[in-house]
Parts: sequence; structure tokens; C-alpha cells
Amino acid sequence: MTVRYAIRPAQPAAHVFHVTVTVDTPDPAGQHFMLPAWIPGSYMIREFARHIGRISALSGDDRVALEKIDKHTWRAAPAEGPLTLAYEVYAWDLSVRGAHLDETHAFFNGTTVFLLPAGHREEPCRLDILPPEGRRFSQWKVATGLQPARTTRRGTFGTYLAADYDELIDCPVEMGTFQRVEFTACGVPHEMVVTGRVPKLDLKRLGADLQRMAETQIRMFEPRRQMAPFERYTFLTMAVGDGYGGLEHRNSTALICRRDDLPYTGMKDTTSAYRTFLGLASHEYFHSWNVKRMRPAAFVPYDLARENYTRLLWMFEGFTSYYDDVLLARAGLLTEAQYLETIAKTLTTVTQRSGRLKQSVAESSFDAWIKYYRQDENAPNSVVSYYQKGALVAAAIDLTLRGRSSGRRSLDDVMRLLWRRYRKAGAAYTGVLEEELPEAVEEATGIDLTRLIRGWTEGTRDVDFAALFAPFGIVVERGLALDEPHFAMMGLKTRRDGADCRIVNVFDGGPAQAAGLSGGDVIVAMGGLRVRASNLDALLSRYAAGDAVEVTAFRRDELQQHVVTLARQPPPKYVLKVDAAATKTAARLRKQWLRER
Ligand code: ZN
Repeated sequence: MTVRYAIRPAQPAAHVFHVTVTVDTPDPAGQHFMLPAWIPGSYMIREFARHIGRISALSGDDRVALEKIDKHTWRAAPAEGPLTLAYEVYAWDLSVRGAHLDETHAFFNGTTVFLLPAGHREEPCRLDILPPEGRRFSQWKVATGLQPARTTRRGTFGTYLAADYDELIDCPVEMGTFQRVEFTACGVPHEMVVTGRVPKLDLKRLGADLQRMAETQIRMFEPRRQMAPFERYTFLTMAVGDGYGGLEHRNSTALICRRDDLPYTGMKDTTSAYRTFLGLASHEYFHSWNVKRMRPAAFVPYDLARENYTRLLWMFEGFTSYYDDVLLARAGLLTEAQYLETIAKTLTTVTQRSGRLKQSVAESSFDAWIKYYRQDENAPNSVVSYYQKGALVAAAIDLTLRGRSSGRRSLDDVMRLLWRRYRKAGAAYTGVLEEELPEAVEEATGIDLTRLIRGWTEGTRDVDFAALFAPFGIVVERGLALDEPHFAMMGLKTRRDGADCRIVNVFDGGPAQAAGLSGGDVIVAMGGLRVRASNLDALLSRYAAGDAVEVTAFRRDELQQHVVTLARQPPPKYVLKVDAAATKTAARLRKQWLRER
């Protein structure tokens, strides 16, 4: 049996999709339909059903009674098939996780728009993607990882197919008048579409750079066969004035980026903004292996109704965050110095936050649903990022393996072993067990890192990078973070709130915390001079470490006076440098690590 869906951007100006789902043989006891509460890859309960508006059920021409059972489930009264549900979805969430529709474009994830008929999750799906009505939309095209039916030309409106519901909701769809570039990587067709106004976008460079990135990743997982795990791949990119995010899918990804992160014709170098974009694309692409296919046992299958708990996100997000940049270096898209700059930045950020001493990355993974994804003003003091510390753990494992084996073994061997296990299991794949990594490291490399890995992931131990980098001829310099005076001298982060200077975070053990300032307070004066959103650092530059400064701030609408004693010791900042005097062996190890063979 096939479940049939149709979606139309019916009222672009009102941001409303019309959707139908038809089941030929509904449950005789009454057919249930549910919408996922979350989207795999983004670990937070989002309750997408809140965007569903008018909804009705029909059997032939007859209206069928529909009852709401819980926040995201409906039950249609018993009816002879086929049974069709028709409903409206409000789509005004410009993120990679939801759906967005206006007169310039349409984007949706299936988790936001496609109700799942209970008992039909494994059945094939047919989806009619219908165009909006009106001549002004006649130039719209379609981009998606879904397979077009024989009657439909790829890239146009028509019928698309999915093997089951999970594939249907794992293939987001973009419609509009996007810019587009195609390339092949290891023989596999790839495309990137870019929505949003981006003048003079250098599509040619984008295609060439993404190709290098993609081929390096395919060759890492499959050095001999050089085969990608999909038949084609689609990057759906939304370019905006300010924004950043990505979500991985099995043969596509949805990205949101700043327009200024994309290359323009005539741009010669790899700007740090463009590096940010390449890092994002590389990250989501790496997920094609690490989390979309190899994944925690807790995600096999995904339970779409509630939280799915695993202590391993440091491995699936952290390792991906490590490889996204290191593989850009190996692809020749980052220089050695640029790469060392990115890892030093991660080391600095993790070390500056006391959250790393209170939560392990395993705990952070488990609690992602209520902590990492729901960060408040206290997050730096209470949460460790399983992305950032997870990336450091990956680097630590990789460097340890390379160091101990004179460069003959590495984390790549471990990833390839896990990949072979996935491929060998086929449909019987049960996922990566919570304790599997140390054992896989030993099997792949003959080196036992169990105790070290436990300390870094189940405990809160810092990674000793000075010792780890030394055999690679890299020196770790521990300097002071002086680039943001308000952070260095007061121990707080602020944001511009209109003309106001509002405190976002107050760091543990810092001068602001000791003086009684809090997240949410608005600083209005310092040393008798008015503070605005833009001048806090300029005012601070007149003071020195150890000075006591009067700070006036509003908490809600109550004015408060504080005396802040400026820090004598600013937070640490790490710089990684290649040691010019390093041995030949060290240079060889470094090359093996950062260059593709
Ligand atoms: Zn990720």
C-alpha cells in the first residue's frame, strides 16, 4: 500500500500550506494520525502540531468525524477507505527546522507538514508537490532529495517518491527562484541551491570548493571504493542578512547563512566569513555518515513522539565538529595556520566556561533536550557543549592514536570500522551502543584508550593539549583573552538591546558576579558616565586591572548601584603555533594529520 500526500503553497502571503494525506485502508477501529514532536538532528521538543490549523477528514464525499486525542494526535471515526485528511499548516519559521512560506519562496521539513497515519510508517509514500496559483509564481522550481516519479522531471513541480515515512520527512523541499550550481564528487551528482538575494554570487567557486570538500570526505570513509552513501546530494541554502544554522539529512541538508558568508565574483582569498560557511556545509555533509547512517542505538528507530535519550551526542556532533574543519584542511581549503586558529578558538571557548567542570559531555548529550537546546543566561556556568568539547575529545583521540602509532593509526581508522559495521549490518543495523567507542578504538587500532576516553567524556577532565600537540611540532601558548574588555575585565557578555547595553551572561567567579550584576540587567552608567550599547569597552579602556568602578544598572525597572573590582587576571586564550625548530618526524606527523594522502 502507498500513503499519498499532496502539498500546495496555497496562500503564500498568509504563509499557509494546504496539505492532504490519503490512506486507502484505514484502521477499521478508527485511524490515528500524528505529527512528530521534534525533528531528528535538533534535540528539542518543538510540538510542530501547534502550526496545524483547520483540519477535516473525508471518505469519498462524506465528512468523517475527527477527534483530537492529544497535542499531536487525531483519530478519524471508523470509515471505509480511502480516507483523506485535509489541513492547513501555518509556515512562518525561517529556520532549518520548520517551514517558511511567503511570496518569494517556500521551504518545509516533512516533520512540520506531513501527518503520519499510525501503522503505515513503513509503507511507501507518493507526494504531489503542487505549485502556488498565479502567474507571478510561474518561474518557481523545486529542489529536494526526494526521488521524482517517472512522470516528473527533476527540479519541477510534480510527483515525488519516498520508500517510507522516515525518508519522506528526511527530505526537506525548497521552492522558488533560487540560484543553482551542480557538480559531481567521486562520480555522484551534487547540487546547491541558494535562496535569498545574493548579488554576484560566485557559483563556480562554490561548486569547485564544495566538490573538493565532498571528495575528501567520501575518500576518508571509502578510500578504496570511493563511493558515497547516496546516489545524489542536495544542499538547500537560505542566505539572509544575519543567521546561521544547518540540519543534516540522508541525502541533503538545509543551511541558513549570512549573505556575506558566501563568495562573490572577484573574491580571491578564503575570508573568515567564507570559512564559516564551508565549515557549516562540511559539518552537515559529514553527518551523511555520522548520525544519519551510523547512529546511536537510541535513534534506531527514532521515536518521533518524545525525547530520544543518548549519552553519545559528543560522538555524533562533537566528532562531526572536529572533522568538518580538519577535512577542509585536508581538502586544501584551509591552510595549516587557519586550521590551527579554529581549533585554538574551540579550546579557548571551552576553557573559559565553568560549565565544563560541572557537566560531562555524556551528561550534556543526555540532557540536550532541556539544557544545551534551552540555554539561559547561566548556560556558560552550567552547560558544556558536546559540540565543542566533543570536537576536542575527537582531536585528543586522533592525536593520541597518531602519536602512539608513529602516524600509522588514527581516528579515521575507527570511523571506517564503525562505517563497515553499519554497512555489514544492512537492515539489521541496531546502532552504536553507548559503550561501543573504546572497544571500536581498540579493534581498529590495537590501542586501548578506554580509561582516557571515559575521563574525557564521562568525567569532566580537561584534555592536556600541550602534551598532545608536542609530537606534532605544535606549541600551545596560553595567553590572555583581551579582545573584549568587558569580558576580560568584568567577566560578562552583553548584547545591544535598542540603544541599551544588556547583560547576557555573567561568568562564574568573575568581577561582575562578585559585584551582584546579573544576566538581563541593563548597564546605564559607569564611573558617572552614561553607558550605551556601543561604548562600554571604550569607557573600560580608561581603567586598569584591580580598579574599583561604580556601575549603575537597571534590574527590571529598579535602579541598582554596584562596585565592580576589575579583574587582575583575564580569562585564558589559546594560540597554537607551528614550532619552527621541530624535528622532521614531528613535521611528518603533522603533515599526515592535516594533508590528504
Ligand atoms: Zn551537527
